[in-house]
Amino acid sequence: MKSGWVEGDAEALVARGAKSGIAHDLALFVYITRLLGRDRKLVLHGGGNTSLKTRARDGFGVEAEVMYVKASGADMAAIEPAGLPAVRLEPLRALRARATVADPELVAFERANLIDPVAPNPSVEIMLHAFLPQKFVVHTHAQAVLSVIDQPAGEQKCAEVFGGRLAFVPYLMPGFALAKKAIEVFERAKPSNGLILGKHGIVTFGEDAREAYERMIQMVSLAEDFIARNRKARAAATARRDAASVAAVAPIIRGACSQKDDKIEGAWRRLVLEFRNGAAVLNALAVDLTRLSEGGVVTPDHTIRTKNWPLVLPHAGRGKLADFAQAAHNETGKFVARYRDYFARHNKRVGGIKRALDPLPRVVLVPELGLFGLGRTKSEAIVSADIAEEWLAVVSNAERTGRFESISEAEMFDVEYWPLEQAKLGARAEPPLTGQIAVVTGAGGAIGRATAQALAGAGAEVVALDIDLAGARATANAIGPHALAVECDVTVAASVQSAFDRVAETFGGLDILIANAGAAWQGRIGEVDEDVLRKSFELNFYGQQRAAQAAIKIMLAQKTGGCLLFNVSKQAVNPGANFGPYGIPKAALMALMRQYALDYGGDGIRANAVNADRIRSGLLTEDFIKERAKARGVSEKDYMSGNLLGREVTADDVAQAFVHLALELKTTAGVTTVDGGNIAAAMR
Ligand SMILES: [Zn+2]
Repeated sequence: MKSGWVEGDAEALVARGAKSGIAHDLALFVYITRLLGRDRKLVLHGGGNTSLKTRARDGFGVEAEVMYVKASGADMAAIEPAGLPAVRLEPLRALRARATVADPELVAFERANLIDPVAPNPSVEIMLHAFLPQKFVVHTHAQAVLSVIDQPAGEQKCAEVFGGRLAFVPYLMPGFALAKKAIEVFERAKPSNGLILGKHGIVTFGEDAREAYERMIQMVSLAEDFIARNRKARAAATARRDAASVAAVAPIIRGACSQKDDKIEGAWRRLVLEFRNGAAVLNALAVDLTRLSEGGVVTPDHTIRTKNWPLVLPHAGRGKLADFAQAAHNETGKFVARYRDYFARHNKRVGGIKRALDPLPRVVLVPELGLFGLGRTKSEAIVSADIAEEWLAVVSNAERTGRFESISEAEMFDVEYWPLEQAKLGARAEPPLTGQIAVVTGAGGAIGRATAQALAGAGAEVVALDIDLAGARATANAIGPHALAVECDVTVAASVQSAFDRVAETFGGLDILIANAGAAWQGRIGEVDEDVLRKSFELNFYGQQRAAQAAIKIMLAQKTGGCLLFNVSKQAVNPGANFGPYGIPKAALMALMRQYALDYGGDGIRANAVNADRIRSGLLTEDFIKERAKARGVSEKDYMSGNLLGREVTADDVAQAFVHLALELKTTAGVTTVDGGNIAAAMR
């Protein structure tokens, strides 16, 4: 591992900091924190922290000895001084006289000693930093180090690899007790470079920023060299058998890993998937599956992201998906029972004071296919998958150079249910569609875009499909980094199939389809070209049917219901003169919706429609509005609000109707009218 220190970058950061009153040491502290945070082999998703001891003035201008420390859960790679709260050092050090300090008291004490009273909470490992005397202290869960120390003889390995440079602190849960133990070990052993925290990670220190940082790099390099020298040859991965596609397997797994809501009939607690199948993953699955299936985190804080063991499923053979589905449901059932038992046993041990987290897996391993990270959102699923990959790599290298050993089950429980760890996950006020995956066709248009955004706002993961990829991308970009844009021509079966495969590969499945793609054709029905009518049917009817069929296939594999929502337009209910080529397929679309409601109600799949009228969009352009208003001798405003309520109806109003229908678990075969009131178009 090479040092990332670039003298010019460090100087530039110091110079820039000086302009906004940031001291030299603090600027370099930000620099090394970012350098460490940027390397995924050192720091992954909040798994590391850094500190600087210096002097600073408080709000009254009084100078005091302080320690800047990374805020709990902050991203080191993008850290700014605001993510490094300063705490008065003397009061923290004085705590060493205490035998124990309860966590809530410790957090309150830290907050009371913040220089800025509204700064975020400091890292849960703050006391370890406070007790060590060095000016700069950095801590990571470096991958290579974990492979070396997560072993039955971790202490001997530490001595063998690092000599006297690092002293060994036996495993203790992060917090006050570990900090006390660490300083005792430090004072006794006087290591030159830092500490190994058994089954947890590495600490290095120094009197200047570069020294503390580069000692981390040197020590991790020693671990890497040790692995390279001692790595036993491994059996080559067996050739891949005839595995089913990820698109076919993922919805089965997602469905098996969903939980019926006890309180609301028809509701499910669902998870979102993230798939990984790099060469390292497939090799580890081929060679180390037995050891991996026993679980065991490689560093304690991973337990809040991945739970303590994975769900291991059998090979998913092509053409044998029914067997695989059966196995997936059986194995998930066993996983859930095991998790509940684990919780009950350890909750009893700690006095029955904990509340169980959901018992669903967060990592699923499928030999010869890959691994799935699971989470309540796509970003959580990505974190689970990243940590699972790290876990595979650490276990794999530990097994090559010795034998992997994790902390005990009781120790894992104590971290998993430690309130300070759970606090990293943030407050859990979830929007109503959290965990659901929605696909919107025609997502580049006005109604499609507004609907995609409204669904995302309600917590759904969103896929924007459009024949115009740029339009779909604009919608996805307006939503955020995890929204997916896919080019899809709903008039071409292969295009629909490949788009829905992408949906299942990317998110693991689908719960809500908004069949919205459409275009208008006109003509007097007795004289119109058959070709015009066929084109309109191809898009406005068959296009929606293709999308609905593709969605149904995924929903049936998941076995957790779902909903199909169709944009039928007012034309389905109240035809306009010379608008037959558009209105007739829309009327057929309404019948299609009812047929889906009838045929799939028994599978918990709902089908509903929105009957919207006079919305500014690709169908009702500004020029067209001008022309129609002029023809009727009214203003554009009066034309657009020419309804019973006298209010213009917008794409956002239609979007809200779709969101409501997605949430109405007891409504199917229904049509929601969004037109400001038009008696002639009222449902009867
Ligand atoms: Zn740590």
